[in-house]
Amino acid sequence: MTKTIFEKIIEREIPADIIYEDEKHIAFLNIAPFEKGHTLVITKHPYKTIFEIPEDEYLQLQKVVHRIAKHIKDVLNCDMNMVQNNGEVSGQEVPHIHFHLIPRLQQKNIYTSGMDDLYVSDEEKKEFGDRLRMDA
Ligand code: 5GP
Repeated sequence: MTKTIFEKIIEREIPADIIYEDEKHIAFLNIAPFEKGHTLVITKHPYKTIFEIPEDEYLQLQKVVHRIAKHIKDVLNCDMNMVQNNGEVSGQEVPHIHFHLIPRLQQKNIYTSGMDDLYVSDEEKKEFGDRLRMDA
């Protein structure tokens, strides 16, 4: 079966700014963020959507999402959109279950923040990855 792009990130076949990893999960910065610090949290097992993942594993994923979300909030002092798309029609592009954690800085809001305020360089993206990295 063809690997998803996220499996390639897990296996280090392609690079990513990984901020968290444990035995079953990994989180990394989105390559095309809606906001600086936009993070994707995934299971290592390539379940496609919430409809395939067993309940206990989904709850474990939620626990990790909750922890990472609070950590990002602490580091960036932000609000946050947390989004999960399930299936192509819902807008899921990568068929590997994931949560989007999208920081919303408090001096702006979802309606005024635009795409013009993203990383100014690869160095800045790496810097965000370094600031957000956390232990399992
Ligand atoms: P979806 O639309 O499936 O909910 O979101 C998939 C996300 O994965 C998109 O926001 C997209 O920018 C991100 N993405 C796709 N390919 C890559 C990649 O190679 N590296 C990283 N870090 N993110 C990716």
